[in-house]
Amino acid sequence: MSLALARKYRPRRFADVAVQSHVATTLKNAIANDRIAHAYLFCGPRGTGKTTLARVLAMALNCENKQADHEPCGTCASCTRIWAGSASLDVVEIDAASNRGVDDARDLRERAMYAPSGPDRYKVYIIDEAHMLTREAWNALLKILEEPPPRVVFVFATTEPQKIAQAAAPVLSRVQRFDLKRIGPADVRVRLGAVLKEEKVGIEPDALGMLARAADGSMRDALSLADQVLSLGTGDITATRVREALGLVHEDEYVALLDVIADHRAGDIFASVGRLADFGIDFGLLLSGLADTLRAQLAIVLGGAVPELSDHLREALEARKERFGSGDLLRMLTMLVEIEPHFRRSGQQQLLFETLLVRFALLDRTIGLEEILRGLDGAGSTGGGGQSRRETPAVAPRLASPPMMSDSKRISEPAAPPRAVAKEVSKSPEPRAASNAPAIADQPPSARKKQPLDLNRLAEHWDDVAEHIRASGRNVVASALNEATPTAVTAGGVVTISVTSDALAEALQSGSESILAALRGIFDGVEKVAVKGMTEGQSAARPRLTAENVIADRVATLRKRDPQLNAAIDALDLRLIE
Ligand SMILES: [Zn+2]
Repeated sequence: MSLALARKYRPRRFADVAVQSHVATTLKNAIANDRIAHAYLFCGPRGTGKTTLARVLAMALNCENKQADHEPCGTCASCTRIWAGSASLDVVEIDAASNRGVDDARDLRERAMYAPSGPDRYKVYIIDEAHMLTREAWNALLKILEEPPPRVVFVFATTEPQKIAQAAAPVLSRVQRFDLKRIGPADVRVRLGAVLKEEKVGIEPDALGMLARAADGSMRDALSLADQVLSLGTGDITATRVREALGLVHEDEYVALLDVIADHRAGDIFASVGRLADFGIDFGLLLSGLADTLRAQLAIVLGGAVPELSDHLREALEARKERFGSGDLLRMLTMLVEIEPHFRRSGQQQLLFETLLVRFALLDRTIGLEEILRGLDGAGSTGGGGQSRRETPAVAPRLASPPMMSDSKRISEPAAPPRAVAKEVSKSPEPRAASNAPAIADQPPSARKKQPLDLNRLAEHWDDVAEHIRASGRNVVASALNEATPTAVTAGGVVTISVTSDALAEALQSGSESILAALRGIFDGVEKVAVKGMTEGQSAARPRLTAENVIADRVATLRKRDPQLNAAIDALDLRLIE
């Protein structure tokens, strides 16, 4: 079978342009009412049909067999030439990525002065990647748009309208802008399914879903990927064939990795990953596949719907939802998102992937430890001093306060709408729950009696220090403090705070003034704050993966990456920052 599906099925009519009916209808009405704008701007991600729509518009304007419904006929000489993108007297396609200089714009301006080739025709300039045009080019174009010649239409297509706004804001007021929608996997499925049916090629539903996901919002990519699969064999398209053609990893492999993590089998990770490496898989794909799986597992744990999941995978994740807390999953996702940019450039992808999984496996175990400690309720806040205290004070008092992310069961229960909760809590912060330490933060400053400074008292009131900082709005610093341990107090009033990562140390350094002020509010004789990264040995003695806990930053990253997770994060955010 030799065909290029993307070309063969490129729409010839407005009605065939997938998903963008809001634009197609408006354009058709403009033609019907003879109110064609002089310039259009089509914005949208790649593969959403910007150039296709521009060509269909040009076809409709120049069709030799005008149709009653104002669609192009698609078969006349004019339509055929425009559809194929071949040279045409009246329709000029310009790729701004390669013709962005002012000379071309002047040339354009001169050419625009020529009338269309016939009285019932339009001169259409389709300018692709329009954000690549220089400011000078835009200035030249602006002069045309200020006094547009009759029956000349400019169509600008861009993936980055904000760049046009920066380079040529005045142009924007002279164009009619359309924002094309991203084509979701469900739409890609429908269209791709229809095309393959037309081609009389059978496809398994799972295989269709895999192609739709891999297309990532681009109809053109979906059809090209289908071509790629079809070129590697005959007969129906199966999930196995798609995996082989696109180098995808079987979803069971991801489920197996989830089990290794849930079972804390850190030692098995190297063998599992090594086996995948032997198949010659692409670690970049593996990482994004793992992210998709974790995200789906999180949605299932939160009771949300996950569209575009195969029945097989959905069942597997449903069966595991008791094994993961939403907090665990969110932590893993944030860790994963964090290494992603670095991952792509790394020559050590296998090692990075393995160590990430090991951290996941250990992360789960450390939460188990926190739960055990919480079971001892308050034991850490009253214990004696000395070396053993040094390791626990930051953990123990905190465990006595309201449950945090490790209390995943609680989070997974259906709650009030997350945004409403967030608002409510930020307005009236919950008072500190059962802690044996006096709730100094709750008392007005005048009522407070300052405490003499020593390491034990400092450890005991560590939460109060964090509370003070949080009350001043510095959540990142406060979260870092929660992960830090006061390790020394000198006679001269120097308080040493130790942390296990550079990120935490940086966060604390940036807030050292506030920390000093907060300490002075509670203790007598505080002179200076010193932040210290822990040595290897000390950090090994600490049970938690503290580097993962500057949560606020991470939540921000996640939000940026995946707006769909927003609601989930809003629900968890409270507890993370809390
Ligand atoms: Zn025609």
